[in-house]
Amino acid sequence: MSNRGRYVSIIDLALTDLRRTVRANTPSISGVNKLANIDSAILRNAEIKKMGDAFKAGYVANTKSILNENVSLMSHVAIEGQLPVLRKNGIILTPKELDSIKRNFAKSYGRKFKGKTAVQRARNIAKRTNKDVRKAIIDTRHGRKDIISKVIRNADDFGGRSLSAVRSGEVLIYSELNRAQNEMVVFLAESIGAKYVRWVNTGRPESVCDICKEYANSINVTPLELPNVSDMRGIFHIDNVPEYPHSCCKCELMIIDSPYNFENA
Ligand SMILES: [Zn+2]
Repeated sequence: MSNRGRYVSIIDLALTDLRRTVRANTPSISGVNKLANIDSAILRNAEIKKMGDAFKAGYVANTKSILNENVSLMSHVAIEGQLPVLRKNGIILTPKELDSIKRNFAKSYGRKFKGKTAVQRARNIAKRTNKDVRKAIIDTRHGRKDIISKVIRNADDFGGRSLSAVRSGEVLIYSELNRAQNEMVVFLAESIGAKYVRWVNTGRPESVCDICKEYANSINVTPLELPNVSDMRGIFHIDNVPEYPHSCCKCELMIIDSPYNFENA
């Protein structure tokens, strides 16, 4: 299987895990109806709060564990994807060295993205979902049934459960896993003394956004820095690699193929 194929299958399994989590913890349409039919406002609010708190706790904990597990899987695949280029340049990492790079990466990972950690973002998604569900319950009580279908839809895909938690959670997990893969490549480059990586667009060309196309085609280093490389497009010094540019970006970084890039070669 290609590296991209392995990334995709890790991400698919992570997203399946997320959907299962959401399905298990958010109210169904019948659950919303049941709460809407509680006549005492005090009891009703207490039940809504209880349900919301439980959802939030479960959602955040599950997102965290899905990410921890799969960030490390992604980073392992990311390393393996670079090994052929390293080998060509005479760099053979021992299993012990590989292990220590992976371990150090796991320790360093988890930095903020756009000012928030993944856990903070998961918490916000749960909060939004709870707000949506509360609105669905109150609107149902007031006879406005259409709101349920807005908040809780795609019954076939998600068993009739809350959609916003699924959609936003999917974006979070998809983005974090792709980001982990690229951070690992930069981390690996730093660990072995390589200085340059190439930004590569993946997927159908028409689906690549303008920012990412520009990165992949930009010239950022001079031939003096890399005399052996003929195609300079998309190459960045590891100190100047752009931030993960947007949600769901699946661009890849590759350590580039020139012995002169490696300090220890
Ligand atoms: Zn991209």
